[in-house]
Amino acid sequence: MGAGRFAPSPSGELHLGNLRTALLAWLFARSTGRGFLLRVEDLDRARAGAEEEQLRDLAALGLDWDGPAERQTERLEGYTDALDSLRSRGLLYECFCTRRDIAEAPSAPHAAPGAYPGTCRGLTEAQRQERRAHRPAALRLRTDVVRFTVADALHGDYTAAVDDFVVLRNDGVPAYNLAVVVDDALQGVDQVVRGDDLLSSAPRQAYLAGLLGAAVPAYAHVPLVLNREGRRLAKRDGSVTLADLARDGVGAAGVRGLLLDSLGLPDAPLAELADAFDPGSLPREPWLYPPLTAGR
Ligand code: GLU
Repeated sequence: MGAGRFAPSPSGELHLGNLRTALLAWLFARSTGRGFLLRVEDLDRARAGAEEEQLRDLAALGLDWDGPAERQTERLEGYTDALDSLRSRGLLYECFCTRRDIAEAPSAPHAAPGAYPGTCRGLTEAQRQERRAHRPAALRLRTDVVRFTVADALHGDYTAAVDDFVVLRNDGVPAYNLAVVVDDALQGVDQVVRGDDLLSSAPRQAYLAGLLGAAVPAYAHVPLVLNREGRRLAKRDGSVTLADLARDGVGAAGVRGLLLDSLGLPDAPLAELADAFDPGSLPREPWLYPPLTAGR
């Protein structure tokens, strides 16, 4: 049947931007007869209590999901297996570079701006041993492309640079780009709907999925919610969480109506909206919050 998912990082309360993306992920999944999964991306930046708050807020909006939410920290074996598979094919190498080393290295000819310059790609075993004494290694993927193209429901064919990106951080934690690909593959996720701040990561992830023998999911990268300064909405922008809005007298149903309105959708039961959902008519521009008409 396939599944969509919402994969929040439990670093704090969800704000309107996260909630709007979750609502869209639910609509994309349910309108296509897919399952809908919640995955708690707690490899990094987990704050005690945030997961419970997030699940409570998603449920309060009327979203439902299949099975219990799964935590990445309980799925470590999948990442290890994927790393073993890549390692056995010679596709990983140790990297000892600091951010500064990378910023200061001359970039390789034809490389995209910001691409890893390949400093550690060709180290000898003796050089690696010497470096290991000073700094733990991260693991990078030995890629054989410089760019890769994905198909996106809202952005069409989208091409971005793929460099030798990190798959295991030097503190031993699986990197986001590895974890997300492994999780989606193992959880049967075949539709990825998320904020368009992650669009430029999709080609890397699709390329890695191919190396791991996983199908590339259908992608839809949806517009973000921006504050009045045009920056990504954040907690400091005032009343942006369900708890804040409840204090201002706007309950969860009111917030859901506000989010639906921002998407050009009527305030109808979610099941009905799923039946009529048409991704082609979604706004392509960011939603500005608070809206100027609110008079705040
Ligand atoms: N955990 C990521 C975030 O909250 C989302 C990752 C994804 O959807 O691929 O930004």
